[in-house]
This record gives sequence, structure tokens and C-alpha cells, in this order.
Amino acid sequence: MENNSKDPNIWTPSKTESIWPRLWRGMKLRCPRCGTGKLFRAYLKPVAQCSNCDKKWEHVRADLAPAWASMTIAAHVTVLVWHVFFWQTDMPNWQLTSILSVIATGICLIALPSMKGLFMAIIWAKRTTDS
Ligand SMILES: [Zn+2]
Repeated sequence: MENNSKDPNIWTPSKTESIWPRLWRGMKLRCPRCGTGKLFRAYLKPVAQCSNCDKKWEHVRADLAPAWASMTIAAHVTVLVWHVFFWQTDMPNWQLTSILSVIATGICLIALPSMKGLFMAIIWAKRTTDS
């Protein structure tokens, strides 16, 4: 981590730093800046500021992008599972639809925090300053 400012909330990226570790930290629900502090205090509630580096996260809003990304992932997996079950089994449609609904909902709920961390990291990392 390189910070060219004395203010911990202003980060100036260096030209040698890669964005990928920051995105990965966000996906792991860790502070994209330092990778140590937690990014969320509850399921989808960002912490006010990082406990390690004091970066303020409450104003970084990912809005609907994490939900769309989670649904896209869930849809792709669900369609794949549907194809396998539809052609390989004689399962009734109501049963298959019920199982796929549970799978899709579960994938969305599991992926949503990671996607929110990813998009918060993207939003933050793409700014030249993040005050
Ligand atoms: Zn931090």
C-alpha cells in the first residue's frame, strides 16, 4: 500500500500498483486498501471506517451492481443445473423448479456480500482520490 497523502482517507494510486489485489481483498470482505480490517459490520452494512487503516467506507456506495452481478452468477449456474437435471432425470417440473429456486436464492445470498465488496473496491480504486 502506498499513500502519498498524510490524510488516511486520500489515496493516490502509484503507477506500479495493480488493481487486482484490491479487488480480491474486497471480494474476501476485507478492506481493499489494507486487506486487514473488515469491510462489513453486518451482512451488507459497510463499516464506518477500517479498524486498521482508518479508511472511511460508509460513503462508498455500490448501489445495485452487486445484486445484478449475483443474479447473473446465479442464473448461469441455475441454467447449467437445469440442463443437467432436465435431460438426465424424469423429475417433474414443479420439483425441478422448486430445487432450482432454492439453489438460485442460495447462490445470490452467498455471492452478494462478495460482489458488494468487489464493487466497493472497484469504485474506490478507480478514483484518483477518495475523500
Ligand atoms: Zn483498511
